[in-house]
Amino acid sequence: MSARTIDLRSDTITRPDAAMRKAMADAEVGDDVLDHDPTMARLEERVASMLGYESALWVPSGSMGNLIALMLHLRRGDAFLAPEFAHVLGSELGTAAWLAQGMPQVLPHDAGPGRPSPETVRAAVGTGPYFALATTLLCLENTHNFAGGAVFDGAEWSALLEAARSVGLLVHLDGARVWNAAAALGVPVSDLTRGADTVQVCLSKGLGAPVGSVLAADSARITEARRIRKMLGGGVRQGGILAAAGLLALDNVDSLTVDHVNATLLADGLRERGWTVGQPQTNIVLAEGSLSVAQLAELGIAAVTVTGKIRFVTHRDVSESDIREALNRL
Ligand SMILES: *Cc1c(COP(=O)(O)O)cnc(C)c1O
Repeated sequence: MSARTIDLRSDTITRPDAAMRKAMADAEVGDDVLDHDPTMARLEERVASMLGYESALWVPSGSMGNLIALMLHLRRGDAFLAPEFAHVLGSELGTAAWLAQGMPQVLPHDAGPGRPSPETVRAAVGTGPYFALATTLLCLENTHNFAGGAVFDGAEWSALLEAARSVGLLVHLDGARVWNAAAALGVPVSDLTRGADTVQVCLSKGLGAPVGSVLAADSARITEARRIRKMLGGGVRQGGILAAAGLLALDNVDSLTVDHVNATLLADGLRERGWTVGQPQTNIVLAEGSLSVAQLAELGIAAVTVTGKIRFVTHRDVSESDIREALNRL
């Protein structure tokens, strides 16, 4: 009797639709390792301009984008700051230490879910004797995945940038879902990305591309990032096939608000059924209730556990009626 599973594990499960597959098949391609693939170049230019940067580089994954940023910014043994439960701290196999050779320092979410306050950033960087740890980088995450897709706005972003600069820190933004933050706030994404040293954005989550992220920075850093990407095995030759999907994915930015409405519908329904649920700001619902992930699976609802709670993520491949059906099953 197994009804179709409603898959709310992650927005990464979204599949390329027919238009995207057609664009991939028809993509104009070159050799992106030898010189430059024309479709890749178009995607990179478009993302750079959307985010308010001079230049950008396609990378196979968000994890590689974050890693390249850390490898660009950190010297061996430098400390970097990141909010508790940041993806770069706990979900990237320790590559920040293993490959970028940085020392992680965890910051509390004292300004609200997902972000530290400017005072906390300033206080984390001390002036010590010559043998003191050198803290050189602040990593932020917007939306913050494990804080339930939590958003911070352009004013907070500016204040955090200013705090970081005042104590001599470089800044990297893990903007895997910064598109969701911009959609939730109704602002251009550049309001939330401009002014850092590097920004990483994902095309393969709610936007629906099958693969790919983009790292944005100034041209000199992107030139160096291209070398590091090759070193990590991330140079792709006829990458235009993947970039063509990314270009169409960028057209999906505005429809992320549908996912946000569906997340609120789900959260409200869970609350009515006795679950403890925070108010979702974007497409992620963190909830605690009477059912485990395994019990939900028996009802044909797929979810995961993060930070001790059950995480449901809405996305392009689940509709409002799917959410209503999930609530019916509960
Ligand atoms: C998914 C995610 C990443 C990594 O992206 P991958 O493409 O899965 O490597 C980085 N940061 C955050 C906040 C994410 O949610």
